[in-house]
Order: sequence, then structure tokens, then C-alpha cells
Amino acid sequence: MIYPIVKYGQPVLEQRGADITEFDTPELHQLIEDMFESMYAAKGVGLAAPQIGISKRLAVIDTSTGEDPGAKLVLINPEIVKAEGSQKSEEGCLSLPSFREQVNRPQKVTIRAQDAHGKPFEMTGEDLLARAFLHETDHLNGKLYISHVSALKRDLIRRKVRKLQKLGEWE
Ligand SMILES: [Zn+2]
Repeated sequence: MIYPIVKYGQPVLEQRGADITEFDTPELHQLIEDMFESMYAAKGVGLAAPQIGISKRLAVIDTSTGEDPGAKLVLINPEIVKAEGSQKSEEGCLSLPSFREQVNRPQKVTIRAQDAHGKPFEMTGEDLLARAFLHETDHLNGKLYISHVSALKRDLIRRKVRKLQKLGEWE
């Protein structure tokens, strides 16, 4: 099932998600499948559960946008354990459609997470994958990428979103 994506302004996006403690349940596997489906439908490279209104520490990533089945990643209860270097590139978010900003991020990031079976793993990613690790982990901590841009730019985005809300074009 394809879930609608929750947009900036909804409180669920700014709350820390609950840890997942039960693995290998049909519900969890269905949710993961639905998240991949929803992410591909929205043409994103990552999706966090709060973005479909579910306040849990679960995210999916596929930087190949469905081209490479081996690139599908499930991150449960992820934590960033190491971050080094820096990269500056444009970043966007499915919860902030039509906005994109330059965001400084570490270039190489190691994540510790659990897979769909609860098995812990560590993984290091660079460039876009590093950015995705950070972006999705931020979501699970109730943080959006606009918290990494200047206050001026953030205010501008907020004002534009409010305008769209008034026009009924942002729900
Ligand atoms: Zn996002």
C-alpha cells in the first residue's frame, strides 16, 4: 500500500520516534514493504516512518532509486557512530516538496542499526549514502534538514509553507 507523505508542519515530523522492540512480525515486514513502495512512488531515495505518520525508529533507503535490488536498506533504531569529512550539496525532503537547499554534511558516516530481523549491523557510507544516513536518522530524532540551513533561509521556507497552507496547497 502506498501511504501519503506527511508534510512539514505536522507534529509527528518533529517528535522522536519510538524504538522498535518487536522484530519478525508480519506487521513490521508489511510496513517495510509499504515504505519501499511509498518511497518509490514519491521518487525519493529515503523515507522515515514519521513521514507516513508512524512515530517509530524505522527508515528505508535506496540511493539507486529502485535500479539495484542490492541497494535496498532497512534501518531500524539507527544511530550515527562516526562521521568525518564534509560535503556540500543540495538536499531535499519528501515532506518539504519543491524546496531544496545547500546543506553541509559529513562526507563519510558510519551507522549502527538493526535489520528487519533485529540483527545489529554497522555500515559506512560516503557522499549520497552518508547524506541519506544522516537525513533519515535526523527524521527519527524529530529533525528536518532545514535545521541545518541558516535561520534566514529556514524562516523564508516557513513563510512560504504558511502561504501555501493558507492557499490550501499544503496539507
Ligand atoms: Zn526527509
